Amino acid sequence: MKRIAVLTSGGDAPGMNAAIRAVVRTGVAQGWEVLGVRHGYAGLARGEMAPLGARDVGGILQLGGTVLGSARCPEFRTELGRRRALQALRGKGVEALVVIGGNGSQAGAYELLRLGFPVVGVASTIDNDLVGSDVTIGVDTALNVALESIDRLKTTASSHGRAFLVEVMGRDCGYLALMAGIAGGAEAVVIPEVDTEPEAVAQELRWAYDRGKSHALVVVAEGAKLNAARLADYFHQHEKRLGFELRVTILGHVQRGGAPGAFDRLLATRLGAGAVDALARGENGVLVGWVRGEVTTTPLAAVVGRQKALDPELLKLAGLLAR
Ligand code: ADP
Repeated sequence: MKRIAVLTSGGDAPGMNAAIRAVVRTGVAQGWEVLGVRHGYAGLARGEMAPLGARDVGGILQLGGTVLGSARCPEFRTELGRRRALQALRGKGVEALVVIGGNGSQAGAYELLRLGFPVVGVASTIDNDLVGSDVTIGVDTALNVALESIDRLKTTASSHGRAFLVEVMGRDCGYLALMAGIAGGAEAVVIPEVDTEPEAVAQELRWAYDRGKSHALVVVAEGAKLNAARLADYFHQHEKRLGFELRVTILGHVQRGGAPGAFDRLLATRLGAGAVDALARGENGVLVGWVRGEVTTTPLAAVVGRQKALDPELLKLAGLLAR
């Protein structure tokens, strides 16, 4: 192996830069040249890649986002788009590609693998929905950002006696909402995996007041069927009967920003280095993840097209602790 390339793709996650840095520096330590691809699969198809040296990735460890840029690239979902990317990789003499990203990005990586190109994925998404990694790069930082807002809202909720709804990210997966709900002490959590009636949420919040709580908080995943807008509408219609109003805060992209915390920097560093280790021992077509406290590899074929299920014990715990 002489030359590899690395890209970041899909939704950016805090810690992606630490992963890029680890791939570049451990790759260079192997004696390889490492090319950085700009703008994910979109840049790959356009051949936007240039060598990165150890110094080029200095000062990025503590930065959120991704210095390589990320993009969503519909063209890569077509055979033509992927062939174009393949041509660019071969044209530059690249022998393997490291893909830092979430479920969609790993699906793209798998398609390249099926065309015969060696790829290694690095598990990175704030959704934590990837099979093959107990926790993914960015989740811990995103959770801490959500918690900071939740803690602040609880303080103001206590002083004014009104209920609060916080919408966190999670299109298909309620992990962030569930964990933010547990760690932030929410009275109710609404997630895509569980059908919830608005009246059930209203009753949870009502009971919280009845039990003498000074605040009532519901955390909602953006992708839940009962989303923030629908819940707010319901509460507005029933405000008189319920006896309190609902204030909505949508955290949105705030959760992706900011500096990665210690956990994400270390996880990203280990997984980035793990990707180079895998290639060095001749392994590819795998996702590098973190399973039971160790860097592991899982075949992309077993990862792609699946979504990691939520732990039912955690769902139970969220209900028990809201008492
Ligand atoms: P994430 O990696 O954060 O889940 P997306 O789902 O947006 O982000 O996927 C990122 C990119 O990966 C897409 O814009 C597309 O270029 C590529 N991709 C996603 N799914 C596929 C697929 N099934 N086949 C090929 N490429 C895909």
